[in-house]
Amino acid sequence: MRLIRYFFEIIRGFCITARHFFVNIFFHILNLFGIKTKRRGAVTIQYPEQRAALASRHRSLHRMMKREDGKPRCVACMLCATVCPSECIYIEAAEEDDPDIQKYPAVFIIDLNRCCFCGFCVEACPEDAIRMDTEQIELASYDRKKLVFDIDRLLE
Ligand code: SF4
Ligand code: SF4
Repeated sequence: MRLIRYFFEIIRGFCITARHFFVNIFFHILNLFGIKTKRRGAVTIQYPEQRAALASRHRSLHRMMKREDGKPRCVACMLCATVCPSECIYIEAAEEDDPDIQKYPAVFIIDLNRCCFCGFCVEACPEDAIRMDTEQIELASYDRKKLVFDIDRLLE
């Protein structure tokens, strides 16, 4: 009885694989003839040699935007640090000589060990100083210290 069940499951597995194969072929043939369908045939991307294009709204590694004079746009208002749910942004504000700017971040650290890539910091920033559009997604490291980004790394 067990043996019959065993072969039955193997045949069932073959059927599922064959079904996916033919459904994919069907959608690829439709696309080949320019027929647009809601569903697309599955494709295999040979990562890391090949890379899929990231969506424009994809959130990747943070970067700090610069002013025209090369200084960071950040005015150390602390909004990003306040809104961050992971509490992984640390800022020390300092007085800026320019009265229009008033403050700048003497220290600005994002600890990616804790970051959940929610993007709240980007949304909260009134100066558009911080963005998550670097398309850098390979951030794994064996060393936790390498995932602590200071302002110099964020400005790179
Ligand atoms: S993406 Fe989210 S968790 Fe990461 S630093 Fe910004 S607010 Fe914090
Ligand atoms: S919200 Fe923007 S301007 Fe304010 S501290 Fe954060 S990065 Fe700087």
